[in-house]
Formats: sequence, structure tokens, C-alpha cells
Amino acid sequence: MIRLFGLLIVAFMANPATGEDRGPAGMSCAGPLFQGGFVICALSADTGAYQLETSDGKQAKLSFGHPALLPFSRNSPLDIIVQAKGLSQHWQPELETQRFTLQAGDWAIERIDGLPPGKVTPRTLEQQQKVEADWKKKQIAWAHRTAASWYAGGFTKPVSNSRTSGVYGSQRILNGKPKNPHLGMDFAAPKGTDILSPAQAEVVLAEPDMYFEGGLLVLDHGAGVMSVMLHMSKLDVKLGEQVKQGQKVGEVGMTGRATGPHLHWGIKVRGTYISPALALAYTAPQEAISSD
Ligand SMILES: [Zn+2]
Repeated sequence: MIRLFGLLIVAFMANPATGEDRGPAGMSCAGPLFQGGFVICALSADTGAYQLETSDGKQAKLSFGHPALLPFSRNSPLDIIVQAKGLSQHWQPELETQRFTLQAGDWAIERIDGLPPGKVTPRTLEQQQKVEADWKKKQIAWAHRTAASWYAGGFTKPVSNSRTSGVYGSQRILNGKPKNPHLGMDFAAPKGTDILSPAQAEVVLAEPDMYFEGGLLVLDHGAGVMSVMLHMSKLDVKLGEQVKQGQKVGEVGMTGRATGPHLHWGIKVRGTYISPALALAYTAPQEAISSD
């Protein structure tokens, strides 16, 4: 019985080379199958709304024309099962359970020395109060949701003339202290270099002076798929504004906890940071591109 079950899992497993899995019931999922990667699942026909749930507790809504992005965290289990539950009142077809096998990440170790000690661990009461006030502002932004799925068309580089100075997933040792892993991508460029929106978005946070982040912008690309941009010297957009892909949103700086001018770009998906490099490399299959 155990052997039979194992064979069934193999039979339903996605093709790891392309990350594509086309079930007969109308849902196809594609994306980079790595820790820090993601899949975008789309319906081929209007069969009502579904809630997708992964075996590691991620959730997303799916309907025709509104694909769902399911993130894989840096430390994601390598075997992921995705199940769809119908949300409509009337009968709707069941969707095939999808199974994915991820490739493990190969994370670098980065040592950064010479940061002001107060920027590694806040010391004074005033510094701690500033960090707490910043935290509250960010919680409001993280809870924002737009009904759109602008992210499904793919992402473009936010700083065109730049050098990659930090990668997703690396273990960081700041002033000799092991800290949380780096969950974004760093683009080193002179102060004042243009920063462009990597996809269409709504601005959900625009703060010029956060304690760690410095000039901080959060852009919602739809359904809680958000760009998080740090250390900016100038912000050109305001809270609530709609921005197009490639539109200038601000300028590179070294505000907050930074040792040189660069843009830190994170992509946060409802609480999970995915790899911006994998998002840039992803090209959307036609059915995943939403019309709005
Ligand atoms: Zn960074």
C-alpha cells in the first residue's frame, strides 16, 4: 500500500525542468521550483472561485482571469502539495491536486563590518520607540490587498545601470553578529540613480525616514504581492498612487542601515519573501497574464 501511494505521488509530480503541470481539470501552475521561488496558477476556463492551500500553510484566491501566486520561502519544505477548495455556492468542478518538488537553495555567507553599532541593535529608548512606530506603519501596509494581478505579467529590473551587490538568501554576519538571512536583492548605483517600478502597482507605503530602512517604498502588485524598496534618497510617489511598470518612483540612496548607496529590493508575498532574481527571470505563460 505504501509503495502504491509512492507511485501515485511520482505520477502526479510536476516536471522539475519546466515547472509546468497541466491537470485535466483546468488549473495550470508554472514558475521557478526552488526554495525562494514561486508558482503562478491560472484557470483555463471560468469554473468559479477557488481557495488554494499549500501543504506548508500558504493560501491564495484563484478565479478565471485572476491567477494566484504561491510563494516558496527560503526555508520551504522541498515537497509541496497544492489543493484547491471551491468557494462558489453552486456546484463547481474539483481541481486536481498539484505536487511540486523544489530544488534546495545554495546560500552564500556575507560579512558586513563597520556598521554604526546602533544600526545593528537599537540602543537608546528613543531609537527603540522609533523602531516600534515604524513597525506599526509597516503592519498596515502588509495587510493591504488589491484585487488586481499585475504581477502575473512578470517583473522588470528596478535600477537599470547597477551592480548586484547582495543576493537573496545569504546568511548575514553584521559587525561579527549572525543576523537574519538577507531576503532581497541589492543594486549598487550612485546616489540619485532612478528607481523604476518593476511592475504596475498601487503605493501602499511611502516613508522617507524609517530607522533601518531609511527611505522606504512598498508597492502592491496585486493580491498582496509587494515590492519593498529600501535606503532611497528620494521618493517620487505618494501613498495610494497608481504606478505603471517602468515608471520612476524615486532615487537610490544610503539612508537607514546601509554602508553605501544601493537599492534593496524585496518581494514580499503575504508574509513570505521570494527571490527577486527568480522573479526577474520568470516569463509568464500567456494564460497567466490578466487583462486588468
Ligand atoms: Zn539588501
